Amino acid sequence: MTEKSNFSQWYHEILENAEVIDQRYPVQGMLVYRRWGLSIIRAMQNELEGMLEASGHEPILMPVLIPEDVLGKETKHIAGFEEEVFWVTHAGKNELERKLSLRPTSETSIYEMFSLWIRAHTDLPLKVHQSCAVYRYETKHTRPLMRGREFLWNEGHSAHVDAVDTEKNIADIKEIYTRLISGLLCLPFNLSIRPEWDRFPGAVYTCAFDTIMPDGKTLQIATVHNLGQTFSKVFGIKFEDEKGRHEHVFQASYGPSFGRLLAAAISIHGDDNGLVLPPRIAPVQAVIVPIIFKESEGIVMAFAERVADKLRGMGIRVYTDAGDGRPGAKFYRWEMKGVPLRIEIGPRDVEKNAVMAVRRDTGEKQSLSFDKIDDVRGIFTEIENNIRKSAKEKFDAMAGSAKGLEELKSKAGYGIISVGWCGGKSCAEKIEEFADILSVEEKQGVCPVCGKKGNSVKMGKSY
Ligand code: ZN
Repeated sequence: MTEKSNFSQWYHEILENAEVIDQRYPVQGMLVYRRWGLSIIRAMQNELEGMLEASGHEPILMPVLIPEDVLGKETKHIAGFEEEVFWVTHAGKNELERKLSLRPTSETSIYEMFSLWIRAHTDLPLKVHQSCAVYRYETKHTRPLMRGREFLWNEGHSAHVDAVDTEKNIADIKEIYTRLISGLLCLPFNLSIRPEWDRFPGAVYTCAFDTIMPDGKTLQIATVHNLGQTFSKVFGIKFEDEKGRHEHVFQASYGPSFGRLLAAAISIHGDDNGLVLPPRIAPVQAVIVPIIFKESEGIVMAFAERVADKLRGMGIRVYTDAGDGRPGAKFYRWEMKGVPLRIEIGPRDVEKNAVMAVRRDTGEKQSLSFDKIDDVRGIFTEIENNIRKSAKEKFDAMAGSAKGLEELKSKAGYGIISVGWCGGKSCAEKIEEFADILSVEEKQGVCPVCGKKGNSVKMGKSY
């Protein structure tokens, strides 16, 4: 394998070698998800959906097609997506009377239904979510899992009686996404409010979760939008309050991208030997490699089976690699695929009624007696903590600040850099020649362009 220091090459190789996806499908920007990639996505999807539903979200599944007049109802919203929409214009040979779009996001289709479902304050809050694919004709260079024309995500949509309840839900969602990103995937992130010009089309404000990839570029992995009453006024989503008055609902929408989360987990945790997967998302959590010699094959295989059964009984995803081939080649393959724990069983281990457990993240070996196989759970927790900690250290090492334009120029594009900004448009344009402004911070700073005092901004070069 290519070393990870050559990140771009390493990334493409690992996606193929570990059977995460296949990008040879003959539509640019559309991927085939293979077993390894899809299993990881399903693990995050299950975890996220469980948390959303525990917080009162109902699952729904909307049609993929949105009529032109529905998609276009909110003018700012459609203007933001116009260049990227795929249109269905024909049914067989006949032109359709009403053009249909492949959903680029589902605010409009869901709010069309919200206007039918919401009647009274007792219907509120209404919170729904769906995991689905959305379609955008990306004109920028596509990159597998990071920037494509079809991508998998979960989108949540809510309607509330007032702004206060909307904010309460936004706080819940930030907490849920933090548990997904940092808890499950062990990824560090920066959560901030996007500058005005980078808001979701139609939103009052947009919060974004950004992480930093090994090449120093930032990757937006999830967003949360406060939509205020923008959409409810256009779609006529009204409710009767306790006093019999008819009011428009307040709304929020939010979503993490499964593809980008997968790309980040692969890239940030991986090493020169391949993937390093956090145990809870690993398609195989422990791989048993029997070390077989002819004379002891029977007893080794019988013991391996007992170990596998015991682990399975604990709810651990285990696979026994009893196929032909040298143990060394098997070690190499499962290491490359990121399996958190390798369990080696040779004739000597059987004699001792024990196994040799090898951690993927540190390479550390330890003998575990059969009666103490339960310790595997604790090892998984240690692996998770270690992966999370080392990812955070790399992330923190890529946070910096710059004073003058020269310093900004030399540092921009590698990690998240703080710099001052006076608030002026032309100065923002000048600053953004080097990297993108991710957020405007409360902290004060001096503008590197004009020298006036203002706020500080966080910058990164986004994927
Ligand atoms: Zn300035």
